[in-house]
Amino acid sequence: MKCLVVANWKMNPATWREARQLFEAIKKAADRSAHLSVVVAPPSLYVRSLRERYHGRRLAFAIQHARAETQGAHTGDVSLIQSKDAGVQYAIVGHAERRAQGETDDETGAQVGEALSLKVTPILCVGEAERTSDAMYFEVVRRQLRAGFAQVDPSHLQRVIVAYEPVWAIGKQSAMRPRDMHEMAIFIRKTLVDLSMRNGPLPTNKKEPTATAMGVRILYGGSIDEQNAPAMLTEGDIQGFLVGRASQESARMRALLQALDAVA
Ligand code: PEP
Repeated sequence: MKCLVVANWKMNPATWREARQLFEAIKKAADRSAHLSVVVAPPSLYVRSLRERYHGRRLAFAIQHARAETQGAHTGDVSLIQSKDAGVQYAIVGHAERRAQGETDDETGAQVGEALSLKVTPILCVGEAERTSDAMYFEVVRRQLRAGFAQVDPSHLQRVIVAYEPVWAIGKQSAMRPRDMHEMAIFIRKTLVDLSMRNGPLPTNKKEPTATAMGVRILYGGSIDEQNAPAMLTEGDIQGFLVGRASQESARMRALLQALDAVA
């Protein structure tokens, strides 16, 4: 399985011209990175136009946030079905910045369910706000996973990607230590195995749920750059990254993809 790099541009760049330039730079860097899969998550306003101009196969598109409802009085929001129509194959769900604005666990569960029904791959973001000595952060992650996977059939867990993003490492100077990520990856897999068995044994024609739980791709996000990413990939028990700032500047993203391609 190729290492997956998701470029979360957030509310950047300021103009369509700059968005095209950044996309062109990422496209070129992705073309040179044989061992990586790259997904670009631009502001929703730019998604359709970038998608229509792109004729390659190496890049895919994600929506940064979209509602599960198909229509309604939700001023300023976009829906998953509109995002699918605009050409996305992935949807970021429950990013810390959305949760901070009031997005609930139940809403993330509904978005994951709707994305799967549209054949859009959800990237479910989980992560604690802080680390206290009582290890309560495991409970936070477990609660977010349970809610996020609430509508997922146990035999389809692998269709969801989990992005572990400790809030205290987002937008900071340094990432978390790879061995701490490794520990968290084990915890996430164990939680998913527990979830996969919640309905008891499945009919024999269905995939073994434990195997599908173990196969869920886990990404790390939080202050990743070309310096810290290779060790995180090789030691953190992860299959890719959700990248904020380093994906919003051509040179930094080029350097990150090059560094990862060398170790992937
Ligand atoms: C993010 O917000 O998803 C993120 C990982 O940001 P940064 O890489 O800037 O820490």
